[in-house]
Amino acid sequence: MKLFDLSGKVAIVTGGNGGIGLGMAKGLAQAGAAVAIAARNAKKSSQAVKELEALGGKALAVNTDVTSEVSIAEMVKTVAEKLGRIDILVNNAGTNIRKLPQDLAAAEWHQVIDTNLTSAFLCSKAAHPEMKKAGGGKILNNGSMMSIFGAPWAPAYAASKGGMVQLTKALATAWAKDNIQVNCFLPGWIDTELTQGARQQVPGLHDRVLGRTPSGRWGTLDDFMGIAVFLASPASSFITGTAIPVDGGYSVLG
Ligand code: NDP
Repeated sequence: MKLFDLSGKVAIVTGGNGGIGLGMAKGLAQAGAAVAIAARNAKKSSQAVKELEALGGKALAVNTDVTSEVSIAEMVKTVAEKLGRIDILVNNAGTNIRKLPQDLAAAEWHQVIDTNLTSAFLCSKAAHPEMKKAGGGKILNNGSMMSIFGAPWAPAYAASKGGMVQLTKALATAWAKDNIQVNCFLPGWIDTELTQGARQQVPGLHDRVLGRTPSGRWGTLDDFMGIAVFLASPASSFITGTAIPVDGGYSVLG
């Protein structure tokens, strides 16, 4: 269907070498986009490229540290040169340091904010001229249930993910006239390396998530293929500045 067709489009997925980012990259590749995987772990990135190629997609690994403006500029230059254009940017790279506010060092605060939030601003700013050149674009920002709720162990993480929603609104209003739509999606509890670590650290977390999620399961990477294609395609051309939960109903259970 043309509404969801991404043939000829080029996407960058930061942190696309695993977890939710790889799920989104797979959706974009299956809809016809060429996908650049931008992350630090070169081995994981080349494995991800192989998985995308096996789906029939064109893919490229670009070694990127999203906390470095220099590295981000290099990422955009490389993708534009090697894949010809940039239409879609998924700001997905993220991290967490699980500590109570009184135990979190300033350097740890900055590390989380830089990786999760400042990166999205810098990547979007760097990709903006290429999107304008392409006649428009799509920016997808990865938020969290921590964009809505709070938790004692997530001061910097929750601040970064709340900020992601507001950054989305600011970019959406600034670039709507450039035909660039900017939206945020808010994952619930998803089974990835990030949450496998949390499950080891927090006794009872696994069962609490199952009990609290109306769908009665953890999210999977494949649950992110549809939202990626929808928000990256012409199907969402009049949708901008939103924050869409992908959470099995977690955020609406009273
Ligand atoms: P993963 O740990 O599997 O993925 C994190 C990704 O971010 C990795 O690909 C990692 O690649 C990349 N990354 C981290 N730091 C950097 C950096 N400095 N530069 C470039 N890439 C970086 O976890 P998830 O898939 O769970 O997380 C992906 C996103 O989803 C995050 O933003 C997270 O906050 C969000 N999210 C996850 C939820 C969940 O339940 N899993 C819930 C809500 C939100 P590399 O190490 O190779 O650089």
